[in-house]
Amino acid sequence: MLSPCWNWTGAVKQGTDRPTFGLRGKMVSPYRTLYQHYHGPLPEGKVVRHRCDNPLCCNPHHLEAGTHKENSHDMTMRNSRGRPLARLQMVVRHKEDGMTVAEIASVTGLHHLEVDRLLEFHEEDAGLYTIERTMFGPDEANRRRTERLRSEYAGLTKMGEFISMNSRGRDATAA
Ligand SMILES: [Zn+2]
Repeated sequence: MLSPCWNWTGAVKQGTDRPTFGLRGKMVSPYRTLYQHYHGPLPEGKVVRHRCDNPLCCNPHHLEAGTHKENSHDMTMRNSRGRPLARLQMVVRHKEDGMTVAEIASVTGLHHLEVDRLLEFHEEDAGLYTIERTMFGPDEANRRRTERLRSEYAGLTKMGEFISMNSRGRDATAA
């Protein structure tokens, strides 16, 4: 059994659920900072994973070092990929961790065109999302964002068909 989560109540990175705070003029991740304070330097190429699956948690005992791939696997399992908002957050998070579109496509199993499109959507939508989060709180802001994301998907049916056609092709080759 894990001890209780320490939920971050400060600022989050624009358009995400990822805690952030200013340190000597730079925005840094509190759980990365806490991890390093309690467990020592994060090994090269590793990212901080949550054992508790809670992106707001900063309890150092719930944090461990893992690879991008393990982290992506965690997120995929927890997000059941069908939910558009979860999918968006997963892609944005990988991008912030420094992964390329091709790498994100490879670890998430999404088509690279969909990864591109989600990142574009995020860039255009992040400002509005942040304002709505401040005005209405995270639940309502997430609901509104999901609506926008759904209409984005609906407006791109042709592209969606193209993507799924290509994914099928790719899966068939992989199998
Ligand atoms: Zn936790």
